[in-house]
Amino acid sequence: MDIFDKYAAIAERRSKLLAAGADPFNLRIEAMHGPTEATIAGRRTILVGTNNYLGLTYDPACVEAAVEALRREGTGTTGSRIANGTYGGHRALEEEIAAFMRRRHAIVFSTGYQANLAMIAGLAGPRDLILVDSDWHASIWDGCRLSGATVVRFKHNDPEDLDRRLARNEGVGECRLVIVEGTYSMLGDRAPLREIVEVKKRHGAFLLVDEAHSFGVFGATGRGVAEADGVEPDVDFIAGTFSKSLGAIGGFAVSDHPSFELLRVCARPYMFTASPGPATIASVRTALRRIAEEPALRDRIWANAKALHGGLSAQGFAVCAAMSPIIAVRLPDEAAAVWAWNRLLELGVYVNLALPPGTPNGVCLLRCSLSAAHTPAQIEQVVARFGVLAREIRVALEAPAA
Ligand code: PMP
Repeated sequence: MDIFDKYAAIAERRSKLLAAGADPFNLRIEAMHGPTEATIAGRRTILVGTNNYLGLTYDPACVEAAVEALRREGTGTTGSRIANGTYGGHRALEEEIAAFMRRRHAIVFSTGYQANLAMIAGLAGPRDLILVDSDWHASIWDGCRLSGATVVRFKHNDPEDLDRRLARNEGVGECRLVIVEGTYSMLGDRAPLREIVEVKKRHGAFLLVDEAHSFGVFGATGRGVAEADGVEPDVDFIAGTFSKSLGAIGGFAVSDHPSFELLRVCARPYMFTASPGPATIASVRTALRRIAEEPALRDRIWANAKALHGGLSAQGFAVCAAMSPIIAVRLPDEAAAVWAWNRLLELGVYVNLALPPGTPNGVCLLRCSLSAAHTPAQIEQVVARFGVLAREIRVALEAPAA
């Protein structure tokens, strides 16, 4: 038996995808032309699937800060902070994130994925119980497994189900940790944090919220859905990423818990991997300042979200959730989704193709994410090209069977 035989079903599905057109999971970007446009397959393409929510990847101040740090401190730290030490920038960024989030403590991680692994497996152990929303991101699930805790899933965005499961598991686990996302990455729906906080308080559980997709976007100052819902004092831990609104790579977590700093010597995904490089730290510090000083960035992304959500809904697309910077359109099945995704690419629009098992309830999606850097003209073009797609889908559906 070959060691790859276990992936036979995946290999077959992949061949079908490749036969239908471009490779949605390994798309080649030939050239970038700023935060919202690239050349793909020789064609100038509008990017509507980057998670570059505030469009800061090309911000001149962020780029300058990164270049300057690169010259001053080199290309990498070449090791973990436990072994190789903490640079001034790591500490400064942690202090700045803590101040921005109005928390006592912040820790920086090498990716958002590792922030979740470190937080979950650092906080919960084999004698604890984790209650996790069933639409988890892979990093949350992997963190649960790494922790060795007993894991119970509750129905997506259903505080009553969480309540029932906490009650049913009374006495199970020395500590109980509830994990949700502020905004869910696939459909763009938002957690009912007020109700979840009520439940976790009633049961004496801890709450971790992953604000990967909501940091910088939700809340009056961009602190996320916990800020928007006014529940920050009751959220024990917040995790986030640098790879979306902050336009770089890395992750963070914040808390007021007095023992939070212990995670630096207890959380393996912090301890046993190289720390973020100087250029990353410098650009993120600058991006954080830009977010604090320029609320207009949030106004722009929300205006773009409104325009695209309205435009796609008006054309009859099945838009999955209320208006947010993530707009997912549901297609009837995988073949239709793959065809539509390739057709949009031909029309010069890149969105994410999202298929089961990566989607909730087995749905097939064209997932759009907006940026503050999209111009109104680009949004109009995207809506128009979705319009072409809508007409073609209708014609295909109405065509008499051969
Ligand atoms: N949490 C969620 C909800 C995510 O969607 C992602 C990435 N898409 C992550 C965590 C991981 O972030 P990163 O890309 O920084 O590893």
